[in-house]
Amino acid sequence: MYYPEPISKLIEGFMKLPGIGPKTAGRLAFFVLSMKEDDVLDLGKALVNAKRNLTYCTVCCNITDIDPCRICMDKHRDQSVICVVQDPKDVIAMERTKEFQGLYHVLNGAISPMEGIGPEDIKIPELLKRLENEEVQEIILATNPTIEGEATSMYISKLIKPFGLKVTRIAHGLPVGGDLEYADEVTLMKALEGRREI
Ligand SMILES: [Zn+2]
Repeated sequence: MYYPEPISKLIEGFMKLPGIGPKTAGRLAFFVLSMKEDDVLDLGKALVNAKRNLTYCTVCCNITDIDPCRICMDKHRDQSVICVVQDPKDVIAMERTKEFQGLYHVLNGAISPMEGIGPEDIKIPELLKRLENEEVQEIILATNPTIEGEATSMYISKLIKPFGLKVTRIAHGLPVGGDLEYADEVTLMKALEGRREI
């Protein structure tokens, strides 16, 4: 089936998004055509602005519009605890619990030999650099309860043992194989409270 070029370009664009196949991409493209021009312009601007105005915090590696990010700059937060997560979305999930008052470190991925992702490909060197700050006393490993997440936590715990810090892993009870970001607040809160030293 032949589409005019502007539509096929749009379809191609949508197909670059995760989980979007040709069929869904086609549906989305035709939906955009049916939208009001102002709404399409707003959507386009939002896409470009998000890309241009967001950067990674040079301290915690979370996405942010100011650097360092608001959490890293907040002196009311407990500077002695760093919670290590895989994804910026996990920070949002943890913040929803309102339970955790410390700082974060966002790895932006997990070690996965299958996908060729090694320790240097995620923000582990940046984490080690932060540990030189003597205020840090505890590292909470809150990577996902998946094979990659567990492997990443084990790797990090071995690396930071020489620093003499308390290293804890959040408790199970999180659905195995699931993502932290999809855990409800109560489950996440319990997992945080039940963390154990490794
Ligand atoms: Zn930050």
